[in-house]
Amino acid sequence: MPRWRPRSVRLRLALWYSAAVGLVVLIYAAGVYTFVSRSLREELDRSLHDDFEIVEQSLETARASDATAWSPEQGHHTDGSEPVRWSEVWGPVGELRFRSPGLEERPAPPTAAAGYEYASVVGAAGMPLRTLSGAHSVGASEFVVRVTRSEEGVRHELNELLMGLGLGLPIAVVLAGVGGYQLARRALRPVEHMTEQAQSITADHLRARLPVDNPDDELGRLATVFNEMLNRIEEAFERLRRFTADASHELRTPLTAIRSVGEVGLRERDGGAAYREVIGSMLEETDRLTGLVDRLLFLSRADSGRTSVRRGLVPLLALAREVTGHLSVLAEERAQTIDVEGEASIEARADPMLIREALINLVDNAIKYSPRGARVHVRVFSDGREEAALEVTDTGPGIDPEHHARIFERFYRVDQGRSRDQGGSGLGLAIARWAVAANGGRIELESEVGRGSTFRIVLASALLSSQVTGTERALHDLGQHG
Ligand code: ADP
Repeated sequence: MPRWRPRSVRLRLALWYSAAVGLVVLIYAAGVYTFVSRSLREELDRSLHDDFEIVEQSLETARASDATAWSPEQGHHTDGSEPVRWSEVWGPVGELRFRSPGLEERPAPPTAAAGYEYASVVGAAGMPLRTLSGAHSVGASEFVVRVTRSEEGVRHELNELLMGLGLGLPIAVVLAGVGGYQLARRALRPVEHMTEQAQSITADHLRARLPVDNPDDELGRLATVFNEMLNRIEEAFERLRRFTADASHELRTPLTAIRSVGEVGLRERDGGAAYREVIGSMLEETDRLTGLVDRLLFLSRADSGRTSVRRGLVPLLALAREVTGHLSVLAEERAQTIDVEGEASIEARADPMLIREALINLVDNAIKYSPRGARVHVRVFSDGREEAALEVTDTGPGIDPEHHARIFERFYRVDQGRSRDQGGSGLGLAIARWAVAANGGRIELESEVGRGSTFRIVLASALLSSQVTGTERALHDLGQHG
């Protein structure tokens, strides 16, 4: 069976509050009741003791004057018509000497009773009685004395107290509940505001923020954290929107080119060579389009976390040789030379496919932006401890420091026209940065306008990296020899 839960926090708080107050009041009432009942009973016992002494005095006085004329009632005070105390006296042989009028007959206490003995008994008609019995010697004769008082008064007072406390308890609980409800309502009012405000925040309306009444209290902190999260979401949305717009724009350019080349081709009458040229341009644009789509796919996979990073040992020099070999056709077209330098033993701990992708983009840029006949230098080195680096240096136009941070953004180009003419999509460095960061590395840039640029991929070194396990190295060696 489902457990019942109050629908509002307010109600829940109020219920908890009144339950707590109820419990406290109950404990308090129990304490008060115990204390009062004990002191009332002690007082009754003290009065009984006084009564006993009075009877003793009466016995003494009787002996001093005349034993037959003795009556223990002499020293007694009677309050009202209802007798509330009585006394009984038995003689040395157990004969009843005196019993206050109105007191029912009850057997004498054992004469051997040493000292005083208190007892609670139930009298006629269920009347609660308290007795004190004891022996008293007058000369050679020993008397047994029992004084009795009604406990009715004590009972009555205790009942009244109980009634007062019993009435107070529900009142306190109800008051606490109402007070708690009001208090919770006041305390939770900002939450209601926040809920209303949050309801108005949608994907199209991300501007709104939650009200922060007091940034230092719990609710204020919650609202602040929530607002910060909204900031991040808004930024991410904005980035996504920009990315979509930029991507569409980038895709449109080659498509427009294909279309216009096609239209021009259609107007050609002599076919043959002209058509071939048109088809050639179209294929070129299609290549560009394919490259762009590939890069977009790479980035969107990376964004959605679907690109797996399989770290292993990457021999950096071999990788540099492979990449420069792959791109040497491009360099040759521009009469450029690429040289690779470094120690073959330097290895990084990374995913080789991702690092290859990053390096291709860096070397491709170096070739693309360097003038004809220039030299591109790739260097592999390590600091001998934790880091290994791949460095690509060109003698191109260099990059102004104001663009340093932004060139790694998607679709950002220092010179739109020139980059596009050179086949750039504006995604190369974004991909390179992501690929390196996914391996726990970073890309550093040193550049001076007019003198060239150096891009450096810095990775965790495998040479001395404590993370490299023997198994990994063995597998790697096997791979190299096999
Ligand atoms: P693109 O595909 O346009 O080259 P990238 O993301 O690779 O895009 O580079 C972004 C921008 O950074 C380029 O448009 C270019 O302006 C600048 N850039 C990148 N590499 C170099 C370089 N080696 N020398 C000069 N500028 C560069």
